[in-house]
Amino acid sequence: MKKQADFKTLCVHAGELKDEQFGGAISPLFPSTSYAFNDVESSQYPRYFNTPNQRGLAKKIAALEGAEAGMIFGSGMAAISTALMAHLESGDHVVFQNDLYGGTRNFVKHEFPKFGIEFSFTSGMTSDDFEKEIRENTKGIYIETPSNPTLKIIDLKEISDLAKAHGLWSMIDNTFASPVNQNPIHFGIDIVLHSATKYLGGHSDICAGVVLGSQVSIERLFLSAKNFGGSLSDYTVWLLERSIKTLFLRVQAQNTNALKIAEFLEKESWVDQVFYPGLSNHPNHELAKKQMHGFGGMLSFNLNAQIDAKKFLLNLELIKPTMSLAGIESTALSPHLTSHALLTEEERIAQGIGPQMIRFSTGIEAFEDIKNDLIQSVKLQDP
Ligand SMILES: *Cc1c(COP(=O)(O)O)cnc(C)c1O
Repeated sequence: MKKQADFKTLCVHAGELKDEQFGGAISPLFPSTSYAFNDVESSQYPRYFNTPNQRGLAKKIAALEGAEAGMIFGSGMAAISTALMAHLESGDHVVFQNDLYGGTRNFVKHEFPKFGIEFSFTSGMTSDDFEKEIRENTKGIYIETPSNPTLKIIDLKEISDLAKAHGLWSMIDNTFASPVNQNPIHFGIDIVLHSATKYLGGHSDICAGVVLGSQVSIERLFLSAKNFGGSLSDYTVWLLERSIKTLFLRVQAQNTNALKIAEFLEKESWVDQVFYPGLSNHPNHELAKKQMHGFGGMLSFNLNAQIDAKKFLLNLELIKPTMSLAGIESTALSPHLTSHALLTEEERIAQGIGPQMIRFSTGIEAFEDIKNDLIQSVKLQDP
C-alpha cells in the first residue's frame, strides 16, 4: 500500500491554528475554559471537546488517519472506554480479539458485567475465529493489530468485510502501528483508537487518547463523551500537537532501527525466537506488507533458557526497563512480570507469553549503541 504523498506535510501543518494577532509561526495556545456565549449547542467548553486547540488537534490526527473527524481524550483508556460505552447498551454483545491490551481487557471484564453488556474473546486471530463468536445480539468487533506483545497481524479488510456482512461496527486500537504505518479506515474499519501516550506523543511525557471515525460516529461519541467528561487539558493538547509535527520522522527512524535489531537478534545464540512482522519468516509477513506502510518500532523476543530475564533487563545501561513504550528512547520489559502479570497463567500461555519473553520498544538512538547494550548485558550473565 502506498502512503499518501503529503503525509509529512500533514504532520506539520494539518489542523494548525493561525496566530492572527502577532503572526507567530506556530499554533497559539488557547487555555480558556470560558468562551463568549452563543447558544447551548455551539458554546465552547473544554468538556465539550470543542475548544480551538482540541478541534485543531482532532483535525490533524483525523487527517493523518484519513478519518472525517476525531476527538481528543485525557488518556488512551478514556478514549477506548468512552468509544465502547457510546456504541453499546445493556443486552449487547461484543467480540474481542484474545490478545488485547491489558487495560482494555480489565475494562471489559470489570465494567461490562455491571451494565449487562456481554463479551467474548476469540480463540485465534483469523476472521473465522471472529465469525464463530458472533451472536444474535452482537453489535461490534474489536481488534488490535499488530498485537501486544507477540506482534500478531489480523487482516483488516477481512475483519471490516465480516463486520459489514453482519451489520456490526468495527473498532481498532491502532496504537502499536501509529498512523505512519497503518491507516485502518482505508480498509473499511469504522472507528480507530489511539493511546496518544505512545507514538503520537512519542517523548514519554504526555498521557492522552484519540477516537477517529466518520462525522456521524463522532457525533454519537460526543453524546456520551460529554457525560463521562474525559477531556484533555488544552496545555497538553497543545504539546501533543507539537509532538506530532515530528511523528513521521520519529516513527520512520524507529521502523528502521527495529528491523535492524530484529535481524541482529535472530542471529544471536542467546535468543530463541524473534517476533517482528518485518522479518520474512514472520507468519503474517506478507499480510503485514499488504496492509502496513512500515512494520513499526515494537518487537519481542524470547531469551534462551540459560539467560535470566530479570537480570538481563537490570543489566541494560542505555535501554531503560520501563512499563510504557513508543518513546524516542529504547525501552524493554518482561510482559510476564509487568504488562501481562495480572493475566492468569492459562491466559498468558494462550497468548504465547512466557517468562523468557522481552518486549522491546525501539528508540531513535544509533543502532550500534542499542546492539552493544544488549550484548554487554548478555555478557554479564556469564558466571
Ligand atoms: C498504552 C496503551 C493503551 C492505553 O493508553 P493510556 O494512555 O495508558 O490510557 C491502550 N492500548 C494500547 C495498545 C496501549 O499500548
